Amino acid sequence: MASQVTAGPAVEDGGAPGISAKYEAVIGLEVHAQLLTESKMFCGCRADYAQMPPNTNVCPVCMGLPGALPVMNRKAVEYTILTALALNCTIPEESKFDRKNYFYPDLPKGYQISQYDMPLSLNGHLSFELEGRRVRAGITRVHLEEDTGTLQHAGSVLHTAASSAIDYNRCGVPLMEIVGEPDLRSAEEAREYLVRLRQILTYLGVNDGNLETGSMRCDANVSLRPPGDSQLGVKVEIKNMNSFRAVHRAIQYEIARQAGLLDMGEKPLQETRGWVETESRTVSQRTKEYAADYRYFPEPDLPPLQISRQLVEEITSQMPELPEQKAARLVTQFGLSSYEAGVLTATRASADTFEAVVAGGLPPQAASRWLLGDVAKLETEHRTRLAESGLGVAGLVRLGNLVEKGSINGTTAKALLEELFLSGGDLDDLVQSRGLSMVSDAAELRRMAEEVIAANPKSVADFQGGKEAALQSLVGGVMKLTRGRADARAVTQLLRELLSAE
Ligand code: ADP
Ligand code: MG
Ligand code: ZN
Repeated sequence: MASQVTAGPAVEDGGAPGISAKYEAVIGLEVHAQLLTESKMFCGCRADYAQMPPNTNVCPVCMGLPGALPVMNRKAVEYTILTALALNCTIPEESKFDRKNYFYPDLPKGYQISQYDMPLSLNGHLSFELEGRRVRAGITRVHLEEDTGTLQHAGSVLHTAASSAIDYNRCGVPLMEIVGEPDLRSAEEAREYLVRLRQILTYLGVNDGNLETGSMRCDANVSLRPPGDSQLGVKVEIKNMNSFRAVHRAIQYEIARQAGLLDMGEKPLQETRGWVETESRTVSQRTKEYAADYRYFPEPDLPPLQISRQLVEEITSQMPELPEQKAARLVTQFGLSSYEAGVLTATRASADTFEAVVAGGLPPQAASRWLLGDVAKLETEHRTRLAESGLGVAGLVRLGNLVEKGSINGTTAKALLEELFLSGGDLDDLVQSRGLSMVSDAAELRRMAEEVIAANPKSVADFQGGKEAALQSLVGGVMKLTRGRADARAVTQLLRELLSAE
């Protein structure tokens, strides 16, 4: 037993720890994403409920009062189709909504309007690069449903609560569900899948990608099986992970827990478990329902949807350039490395900034260097994007170009960058009024070099006697005279010339 143990968290209930090479992990993610529409899915209430006092963003429809009738939000349907197309899904000609019946206090209607056997899309895939490999994960379907209300428990969420408060503001917010095939094989693959999926959703502008607030949520289904086995093992569904890190850790933990059970000859239960961040473990929440428990039936208050091919074409034509294509284009069009292109296209905003800086006239290599280096540092440190900073895109273009032309040196540019980023101001005025432009007048530089040579006979003798290092102190002397406003490489070159001519 001990020889199979490699690493991993301890298994609860006193079991043996460890992930064993005897098992292959199988993971499928179900991702819910609130759509960035103006109104809710079936009524006119606002979809951005976040700042509203509890239970103020409700109406008879989203509260499920008797006699209230739902009206479909067209934008939500279009956003779902757009997402499905970006994920290479097929859009059927017909679709419908169904009632998923269950009781829970956050669901005032007693059922959720969702989609069952005729979703808006089917059979797609998401593929991405991970550690030099291409991973291709199937997408079972992307469908549309409505969100529930939210519960606030006084006391522990996981144990018996003293009391709970209900807020219905979120009820009926358009919620897209992206069901992934069980094609992922490690916690790393699952995390990367989620990173890429979020990137696509935010590029499309259909979701804000916020795992922390829960406007994007991920459930991970995990099972183990002997490597090479084609049958799937019993799956456990994990909920409550609100960061990429939590998704990664929860899956790792769950793989180890199930391996421990199997090692002891036990079978994992098919159940739903919750990730408890503070305890770094999953705990059982409930045993799994089956579809039959929900008594799905077609929603009688909504007509079935006919999805014309013309609509699908229109939506296809509005498809923005997706992150992977954009990164590939930055490599071919501007000669960036794929690493640089990957980081620059991480968000649509950062990609747009890069393209704006290049369009403004800064050479692509310099634009990439600035944006990934000093600008990124300032953006993180001050939680401000370049576009909203005092410098702005245009300011960076001008500053970068002064360096490219050799009008100011790198040290000066860095200092100016930070100052302008934080306080704004006119770049040319600053350079002028502070006398920051480089001493590029050859005659002046030569006069300064001769002055330094004359004042340092010992260094000169040392250098001429073969001590290369002595040249550095002479270079330092000239840089000091120029107050740092010279190119050190040019000064070194000039000194060499002067000294060898002597
Ligand atoms: P349910 O009806 O319980 O929701 P589904 O078969 O519809 O189950 O699958 C839901 C999710 O679980 C999908 O993302 C799918 O990829 C994943 N899944 C299904 N079976 C397994 C399994 N044996 N191991 C891991 N993930 C699985
Ligand atoms: Mg499910
Ligand atoms: Zn409403």
